[in-house]
Amino acid sequence: MKRDYYEVLGVTKSASNDEIKSAYRKLALKYHPDKNPGNKESEEKFKEINEAYEILSDVQKKQQYDTFGHDAMGGGNPFGGQGGYQYSSGDFSNMGDIFGDIFGDIFSGQGGRKGSRTSSQHRRGEDLRYDIDISYLEAMNGTEISIDILKKEFCSLCHGAGSKDGVAPKQCPQCRGSGQIRHSQGFFSFSQECHKCYGKGTIINNPCPDCRGGGTVKKRKIVKVKVPAGVDDGTSLKVSGSGNVGANGAPAGDLYVVVHMKAITGFRRDGDNLYTEVSVAFSQAAMGVEYSVPVLHGNVKVKIPVGTQPGTILRVREQGFPRIGRKNRGDLFVKINVSVPKSMNDAQKRALFEYAKSMGEVPKDSKYQNDNFFKKIFG
Ligand SMILES: [Zn+2]
Ligand SMILES: [Zn+2]
Repeated sequence: MKRDYYEVLGVTKSASNDEIKSAYRKLALKYHPDKNPGNKESEEKFKEINEAYEILSDVQKKQQYDTFGHDAMGGGNPFGGQGGYQYSSGDFSNMGDIFGDIFGDIFSGQGGRKGSRTSSQHRRGEDLRYDIDISYLEAMNGTEISIDILKKEFCSLCHGAGSKDGVAPKQCPQCRGSGQIRHSQGFFSFSQECHKCYGKGTIINNPCPDCRGGGTVKKRKIVKVKVPAGVDDGTSLKVSGSGNVGANGAPAGDLYVVVHMKAITGFRRDGDNLYTEVSVAFSQAAMGVEYSVPVLHGNVKVKIPVGTQPGTILRVREQGFPRIGRKNRGDLFVKINVSVPKSMNDAQKRALFEYAKSMGEVPKDSKYQNDNFFKKIFG
């Protein structure tokens, strides 16, 4: 007599999908044959919980089961299979999801789970990443830099063949070159890295002493990178083919150089625009002036109009950062601060006083300032 599926998973009939999934995970981990080698009882339990999960995780099958129970589902074997489950591919992919999740750590060989290795014989080399700091001026003008990276290169002793005697690697007899061994466990089927060739699919009898048969060694390499004008924080420059070399003639990976902008006092960048501020004299703000604004690449002449107020922001077109791949540039924004003189000589004071008087800015009965010059004037 079959046990109730809910009982098998230890959940109630009202259990949610997540509860069912989580109960299954726990049990599947506990009773997995890899954890209980040779234990018939666990194997049976493992089959039982998988069968229960297969039904209860499927809305339609669950409904059928809830309504008709085991009997109505075709005797001992709910879906009519003879001596074992018939898996539809749809069901399997659903299962594989959870399977990879739970069992990844059990099944992975040394080096952890790094995705499928079925095509390892012709695997493209890995991409590499290198981070660089770029100054505002370099970003403005573009530059070329040399970076020193550690990357997988072909072993120079065996020229990448991996064997000491130059004999080409042979196909692994265990996995017949696939690098993977397929196992079936009840209605489960999964792949495991071949233990004989460690997933490479090939065997070398006389491994090269320098690369131990891998055909590649890590070497330091200087790579020249052209940094185009206009790069910004986070710009990623791809240097094709400068990543790790590929296995068995597969193409090399790429090198990605990621740009970071070095901060600089007095300037700020926002996209392609450059921001700075200058301080002009009160008289210059009042009368207008053509002002030489220091920027990264020299000076930019900026017309400060008559009567410019403190805090005014002037925009100078096309004096910002170049736009990558385009002919135009961003703009320069200059904030105008107005400075007040901290000290003046007597002549300057007299002139300013006359100015203030003409503007009606001298209070009539004021002793004005604590300044000796004005004290003399006002008595
Ligand atoms: Zn070698
Ligand atoms: Zn193998």
